[in-house]
Amino acid sequence: ILIVCTIVAVTLSALFVNIAMNTTFNKYMTDVQKQRNERIVQYFTDIYKKNGKWSSNSGDELIHEAYMSNYCLTLLDENKNMVWGMNPKDINNNSYTHTMMGEAGKGVYTTKTFNINLDGKTVGYVIVGQYYAVLLSEQDINFKNSINKGIAVSTILTVLIVTGISLVISKQFSRPIKEVSDISAQLSKGDLEVRSNIKSNIIEINSLIKSINMLGEKLKGQDLLRKRLISDISHEIRTPLNILQNNLEAMIDGILPVTIDRLNSLDEEVIRFGKLLNNLNSLKQFDTEEVKLNMVSVSLKELLSQVCEDFYTLAKEKNINIYFKAEENEFTILGDIDKLKQVFINLISNSIKFSKQNGNVWVNLKQRDDKVMIEIRDDGIGIKKEDLPYIFERLYRGDKSRQMISGNGIGLTIAKKILDLHLASIEVDSEENKGTIFTVCFP
Ligand code: ADP
Repeated sequence: ILIVCTIVAVTLSALFVNIAMNTTFNKYMTDVQKQRNERIVQYFTDIYKKNGKWSSNSGDELIHEAYMSNYCLTLLDENKNMVWGMNPKDINNNSYTHTMMGEAGKGVYTTKTFNINLDGKTVGYVIVGQYYAVLLSEQDINFKNSINKGIAVSTILTVLIVTGISLVISKQFSRPIKEVSDISAQLSKGDLEVRSNIKSNIIEINSLIKSINMLGEKLKGQDLLRKRLISDISHEIRTPLNILQNNLEAMIDGILPVTIDRLNSLDEEVIRFGKLLNNLNSLKQFDTEEVKLNMVSVSLKELLSQVCEDFYTLAKEKNINIYFKAEENEFTILGDIDKLKQVFINLISNSIKFSKQNGNVWVNLKQRDDKVMIEIRDDGIGIKKEDLPYIFERLYRGDKSRQMISGNGIGLTIAKKILDLHLASIEVDSEENKGTIFTVCFP
């Protein structure tokens, strides 16, 4: 495109420059010729003034110049009788003809007659004839040719330079774009490891490369998550089923006596199993947007202090202290009170669940700029750096919690979905063995 545009632009401008130059040059030459004719008339006027009559050698001095410059002179007296005249054939055949050329009116002999006036009286006529409308000398033609050559050379040079530049530019575009398209093809085939390390100095291309690399990372993460999800679901379902099966078989075989305690513990497994299915079901409701919020005015201060109070007894079992601190304000927002309660129950119960004996949980309610901020902080087991990006994903459970603490990795997913519906954000910051802080922000 660049090359074609340049060729068109340069050719057009060369054409216009050429036309403009020719027109100006011909006008200049016509003016020169006009001055020459005036000079000839003046010359003959002076001769007549000096001699008072015409003679056969009047104007002899001009004949040589006329012959050399390829024009023909004829002198007539006042009665239009010829005093003397040059033969037009001579100038057509002379050796200068090939250097004296014209363009307009090529080769046609034309004449112009001028009156020779003295003191208001016509004393004679001079006829100037030439084969070309505009006569050009060799220098004139050389001058025109060198300008034309200049235009041609600059046209070719411009096209060559633009060709070079456009090749470099198109390489800069096409190479990364082709690479990105190759990478997306490979990603679509399932090769999620491919990345591009091309660096471009074009900002848009750079962000395109960054985006495709990010897409690769995301797809890889999602793929990992999907595999993990399937293994998690089967694990979650297999464990209670195994316990039930083993115990029931042992009871049927008479190895284990059927006691109320055993039946109760098996019942607990069935209840856990049922809870998992219920949680998965409520997740499905959020995913299919079946959930409707019942928006009322909610005092966050009241809600949080009530949830904390509900947890005091549970926390005491592990000798954990819960500290609730709120700034001077009711912090009333519009929200679904039950769903919000579910969020804070989940966050605070996690803090207790993932804290060791004698730990602490701090719940702070404060205002930051135009936002209401709730911080739930504990000094518990913390979350591994590599687990952090995934803890809001469904069924994701940190390695540690999987081994030691019960749960099914759905609580935070639901909490995040509820907060999303309230246009609120939730962030987590954690350090292993130091503690975790969840920050919820309401607009
Ligand atoms: P669950 O608690 O049932 O496992 P959640 O969705 O509530 O599921 O939490 C997901 C995971 O996030 C937990 O398994 C745990 O690894 C991590 N987690 C959540 N809260 C905390 C916390 N306060 N301290 C440490 N780890 C936490």
